Amino acid sequence: MIIVLKPGISKILEQAVLAEIRKRGYHPHVMRGVARTVIGAIGDELTHASLESLALEFPQAVESVNPIQKRYKLVSREAHPADSTVTAGGQVIGGKKFQVMAGPCSVESEKQLLATAVAVKAAGATILRGGAFKPRTSPYEFQGLGEKGLKLLSKARRETGLAVITELLSETQAELVAEHADILQIGARNSQNFQLLIAAAKTGKPVLVKRGLSMKIEEWLLAGEYVLANENPNLLFCERGIRTFETYTRNTLDLSAIPIIKQESHCPIVIDPSQGAGRADLVAALCKGAVAMGADALLIEVHPNPAKARSDSAQQLSLEGFAKLMQELRPLIAAVGRE
Ligand code: PEP
Ligand code: MN
Repeated sequence: MIIVLKPGISKILEQAVLAEIRKRGYHPHVMRGVARTVIGAIGDELTHASLESLALEFPQAVESVNPIQKRYKLVSREAHPADSTVTAGGQVIGGKKFQVMAGPCSVESEKQLLATAVAVKAAGATILRGGAFKPRTSPYEFQGLGEKGLKLLSKARRETGLAVITELLSETQAELVAEHADILQIGARNSQNFQLLIAAAKTGKPVLVKRGLSMKIEEWLLAGEYVLANENPNLLFCERGIRTFETYTRNTLDLSAIPIIKQESHCPIVIDPSQGAGRADLVAALCKGAVAMGADALLIEVHPNPAKARSDSAQQLSLEGFAKLMQELRPLIAAVGRE
């Protein structure tokens, strides 16, 4: 903690503040500047009484009390300076290989899912996405196939060898979804549902935490902290666009989150350009930007017949569109030193 003292206070008052800091178990370091005196209080804020009340207790002496430790600890780079990797269904995310997760927004039928899985695998994807439980804004829209969708995802995994990522919507379904998925996706509408984050973490499966529609990066890091704090080290952050005043895109994909997450955290970062743009025609450019900016993986919506999709039809790539994109990404992935 950094305690800033008010200018011109008496020595007696300063000594009283120092005594209180020591009493609470911290070691005070006094730094005298030209105009101000600042005290650095060394000690673990987790195991000692808080110093935040000092400004209220010594209103004539203390101007402000400022934490220097980050509120998130386990996700921070300070806790783990090297990049961490997450292994899901045999695929390593955050390592040398740039990973592509692709598949339909929603699992709609066996034919739709299998056709997509086979095509995205042939094009180079390693992880199959597909929502079985869908978070829809309207209760009258397609809600997903539920457990039947999960079983189709398992079948697609058996037939193609792809790993599977799917969304977990409810704490009560954590075990069920974890039986069928290699990665649990926590959606943008749920990324501050703390009980859901805990339930996902406790399954032991890797957890991908999307950034919420109006979430600050610090809040997103703290949401990730819930996973690590619940003894699950397998965390992926996923930027999928935030809500702004802009209407040309469905969301504003914040690619600056890539270098920020890389600076602040050791956990891999995934970019979802599909929810990010809401428009298939922008997906390729956003993917290229994400590769260039240091993302570890992409999460892309692909459908055999996007116009007929039961959710998010405007943003899904066709099978051919996805294969073309993968070709275009290859030299960029090599240029950033990845495979
Ligand atoms: C999705 O991946 O289809 C989805 C619903 O994502 P988000 O939570 O980012 O909106
Ligand atoms: Mn979608």
